[in-house]
Amino acid sequence: LFPYTTLFRSETELLKKSNKSKKGKKEKKEKKQKKEKRSKGEEASKKRKREKVPATEPTAKKQKTAQTASSSAKQIVAYRKENRISVDTGDHGDDRAPVLSFDECKATFPGTSELLDAFCKGFTKPTPIQAQCWPIGLSGRDLIGIAETGSGKTLGFLLPGIVKLNAEVDTKPRKRQPAILVLAPTRELAMQSDIVCNEAAAETGIRSVCIAGGLDRGAQNQALKRGAQVVVATPGRLISLLECNECDLSRTKYLVLDEADRMLDMGFEPDIKKIMSYLPKKRQTVMFSATWPEEIRALASQYLKNPTKVKIGRASCRERV
Ligand code: AMP
Repeated sequence: LFPYTTLFRSETELLKKSNKSKKGKKEKKEKKQKKEKRSKGEEASKKRKREKVPATEPTAKKQKTAQTASSSAKQIVAYRKENRISVDTGDHGDDRAPVLSFDECKATFPGTSELLDAFCKGFTKPTPIQAQCWPIGLSGRDLIGIAETGSGKTLGFLLPGIVKLNAEVDTKPRKRQPAILVLAPTRELAMQSDIVCNEAAAETGIRSVCIAGGLDRGAQNQALKRGAQVVVATPGRLISLLECNECDLSRTKYLVLDEADRMLDMGFEPDIKKIMSYLPKKRQTVMFSATWPEEIRALASQYLKNPTKVKIGRASCRERV
């Protein structure tokens, strides 16, 4: 009986051993799975964190409420209140302080110095739209300005565009390739912006061409051929020149949609869409409108990236349905 008992014992031990090793393997496997699960979870939470805060956000947040050379936070709040300026920074939180005087603008943004001397001689201080929109435009952000006509918005949008252009290596006018495009709903409005731009041409070296229906098309073609840094255009005539390769927007880096609500009222939406297809995706876009109805919001969300919205005065209450 003895050997059988020994055999039986050793068999039981073997069975126990094999069970133990099976158990050990199972535990090891479970441990490995747990570890993998944990590291996957950590990776996912890291990813969630990354997605929650886009790459560009920290820089924008760091720049929050950039100070000008001389205005205190108190003065800025008082100025905005007095001039009924409201600023909506959306998700980016990059709130730029207004420049309350030309000297303050020159000190804060040295690139504006000569341009202010050329464009603003005779004026005593920036209008509210200029004071608030210049620092935003100069930061390179897209911008929506809701303001009445006659508020000084032409220089409000031209100045940052020209400073941007002056920062380039080659600022000379290029044949048929404007650096700045201003789209306006009517010939009169386009001509006004063109005049403002060309008035300071001698001092600034910036040339502008007005491209609008009802004006000599041949002369416009010649002017584009000579070259101009700025094109101020109504949509219809511009499309006609684009389709004949007489104007090329592939190097345009600054786009202005002036009186955007009027452009939509006049049925220019398909034309705007077409013109957008000729423009580079990488550009700064500035849009001005006297009202802020749903169609304008839709237009802004389609063509502007992460813009700052500025409303000035009475225009801020007038929301056409
Ligand atoms: P706009 O809204 O750009 O058509 O400008 C309306 C009028 O305001 C024009 O006659 C401009 O010459 C004038 N203007 C522009 N900027 C200033 C300023 N800073 N101070 C006084 N008048 C200005």
